[in-house]
Amino acid sequence: MRIVLISTPIGFLGSGRGGGVELTLNSLVSGLISLGHSVEVVAPKNSKLNESNVKAKLHFVEGEGQISWQHQNYNSPVIIPDNSLLAGMLEKGLDIAKHADVLLNMSYDWLPIWMTLNSEIPIAHIISMGSESSVISNLISKVHAEYPNNFAFHSKIQANDYPFIKKPTIIGNGFNLDNYIFQDSIKGPLAWVGRVAPEKGLEDAAYVANQLGEKLKVWGFIEDETYASKIEKLFPQGAIDWMGFLSTDELQKELGKCRGLLNTPKWNEAYGNVIVEALACGVPVVAYKRGGPSEIIQHGQTGYLADPDDKKNMLFYVEIIEKIKRQKCREWVEKNASADIFANKVVNWLNKVMHEYK
Ligand code: UDP
Repeated sequence: MRIVLISTPIGFLGSGRGGGVELTLNSLVSGLISLGHSVEVVAPKNSKLNESNVKAKLHFVEGEGQISWQHQNYNSPVIIPDNSLLAGMLEKGLDIAKHADVLLNMSYDWLPIWMTLNSEIPIAHIISMGSESSVISNLISKVHAEYPNNFAFHSKIQANDYPFIKKPTIIGNGFNLDNYIFQDSIKGPLAWVGRVAPEKGLEDAAYVANQLGEKLKVWGFIEDETYASKIEKLFPQGAIDWMGFLSTDELQKELGKCRGLLNTPKWNEAYGNVIVEALACGVPVVAYKRGGPSEIIQHGQTGYLADPDDKKNMLFYVEIIEKIKRQKCREWVEKNASADIFANKVVNWLNKVMHEYK
């Protein structure tokens, strides 16, 4: 299969601004290549693919990025800036895809989805978020009526945000497991990993660590500075140990030393890459039972699911985290979320999409 991928218009690959999509795109590319498919990627200028993805051709586009939808009002209109990066990536993608089988869009935005109705080239969409915008959800509904196969979701619970899709395609997610080393460090610190932004609920994880008289190690891109400093002021000085945004290789080395990851989504998290990355290193996860995490974590086996927004319940589970066998965490990832398993699911889905166009 010849596949052209469109990246997110929120920051270049490697910046951290694009959140989980950046890693998902990289593991999908390597999974597809290892299955023998040809892949080209259209991405913002300065983007970098993982070293292992040298076989994928990378095309750069310059322009003005989009505002992420989770930071707009649900009823906001679509804003397309002058010299739009998204429009530029779509134009380039469509041009290259004239000689390909399918254009695979990984941006959660209006324009590429609308284009599905107006293009002879099959455009398939990996929807990376729950319903964050009425205009996008309404458009998905409209396009889905005509092209029922063209949308895939990371988790069932994410897809529930789009109730007009009765039988959603669920592809989960995948990770290059060679990049994550198992560590058996049951005495380490507590970790929190993610974009530092209100929908990620860092304050609840800081509360738990603070109750235990511990520092919380925080890795990730600070997307919202005001929110970060507001949270910092809620706790004694030094309670949050800001570790910055690291590459996957550096992150997994540090994360693997931790005894547990806290995951505190305040929104319908589509998947939650950081959970699987922790598990791959042998780190159990305590998360709110909300969104993707509630489908990934096996309660009592690979971590615990606390009642949503109930910090005390989360604290209770963190105190018994050593009951989880770290080896079980790694095993779950190997059986369920490798890059190859993910790429196979995507290929099966894309075959269905292409069939519709014949
Ligand atoms: N991440 C990273 N380095 C860091 C912290 C986070 O590369 O220091 C990446 C992490 O690997 C994950 C992404 O940031 O892929 C966060 O994705 P997630 O699905 O958890 O949430 P999203 O940001 O997409 O809402």
